[in-house]
Amino acid sequence: KRLVILGGGESGVGTAILGKKEGYDVFVSDFGKIKDNYRDVLNQYEIQWEDEQHTEDKILNADVVMKSPGIPEKAPIVKKLIEKGIPVISEIEFANDFTKAMTIGITGSNGKTTTTMLTYHLLKEGGLNVGLGGNIGKSFAWQVAEEHYDSYVLELSSFQLDGIINYKPHIAIITNISPDHLDRYEYKYENYIASKFRITMNQTEEDYLIYDADDEAIGNWLKNNKVKAQLIPFSISKSIENGAFLNNKTMEININQEEFLMETANIALEGKHNMKNAMAATSVANILRIRKQTIRESLSNFQGVEHRLEKVLKIHNVQYINDSKATNVNATFFALDSMTTPTIWIVGGVDKGNDYAELMPLVHEKVKAIICLGVDNKKIIDAFGNVVDMMVEVDNMHDAVNTARHIAEKGDTVLLSPACASFDLFQNYEDRGNQFKREVRNL
Ligand code: ADP
Repeated sequence: KRLVILGGGESGVGTAILGKKEGYDVFVSDFGKIKDNYRDVLNQYEIQWEDEQHTEDKILNADVVMKSPGIPEKAPIVKKLIEKGIPVISEIEFANDFTKAMTIGITGSNGKTTTTMLTYHLLKEGGLNVGLGGNIGKSFAWQVAEEHYDSYVLELSSFQLDGIINYKPHIAIITNISPDHLDRYEYKYENYIASKFRITMNQTEEDYLIYDADDEAIGNWLKNNKVKAQLIPFSISKSIENGAFLNNKTMEININQEEFLMETANIALEGKHNMKNAMAATSVANILRIRKQTIRESLSNFQGVEHRLEKVLKIHNVQYINDSKATNVNATFFALDSMTTPTIWIVGGVDKGNDYAELMPLVHEKVKAIICLGVDNKKIIDAFGNVVDMMVEVDNMHDAVNTARHIAEKGDTVLLSPACASFDLFQNYEDRGNQFKREVRNL
């Protein structure tokens, strides 16, 4: 069988290795340039590849095509494949056919990585032989080819879910849904929501769906559609019968009569959004019967993920926090919400159609100065110009951090939480966060 792989990145190369191992005739084609380290791997495995072109004769001759998540459905080559009736699937779908491992699939607009890492941490500490994959680290397909895990915790983007046919996670989590990536969904929010819910489409009564019961989009979808999996909601605002909720300062989980209680003060992650992530991850651990003492210890020692509300340093009693991964308004909402001292907020970048209205009360309450770090700051200035005492525009991270330092007084917090993509001034959000940390350490 001829397997064609579009995209020679982490998922493409992983799929190529697995396909080759399983006896497929494999061809990798990337319209951009394949990175040297991936070229070396493909050569080492004697897998045919091309880059900076798509040889259509070869591609349209495939029995099955794996499309990497970064390639949009509307790419001309993908359209041609679909017209010809050749199945176009995602890496997750392909790899899943070659493993019996149980998977936990985690999707949502925000909180995927944090929830995935925390879930993995809980299960690993609980003694399971568990792998971590999806959008994080080594691709799922690559691990299926070369590792021997009994279960996997997978971070799944909507693009991965668009390409599934039979894949189902035993436990699915939808962390929350807010508008994002709409350019890939014909600018229709309902298409994006439906894409997230594909994670449930092959589940049966033996499976689970853990989801945010406070989330409007999720609630509406569940009202109008049927999910076969057992529903396990979590909430920070109301009590929940079979699921997880906050009871004053205690996280209470009760799933199918299995109870778990823990004071939130003992959970290392901070902020309301992280309580949600913790409830979702702990629900998985509860369902899989991880020892309560282990869960407790793991929740109290999990230090969070880089670039997500990451505490960098305290200098002259000013706390510097790197939340560079906040690339949309909803993520920044929770960052501002968790600020406990007057905040100097560094914001801006590439606007994704942001509506800043929902941040207004929080900015009013918590922010004393705004530092706009971006090429085009007009929208931010229009939204908040009259709300804060001080507004400064800068065009590099050095100036952003140094300006913040001059404004900050003892007890304040300097927060980088851009609510925007990073591509105007930085390579990616990691680069932005790393530059922030470097400048802070240089102070
Ligand atoms: P994702 O992988 O979905 O992008 P991350 O865990 O990387 O999610 O977090 C992305 C951003 O969203 C960070 O700024 C983080 O602080 C914030 N965030 C994390 N969890 C949540 C949540 N449950 N709701 C809203 N924002 C969140």
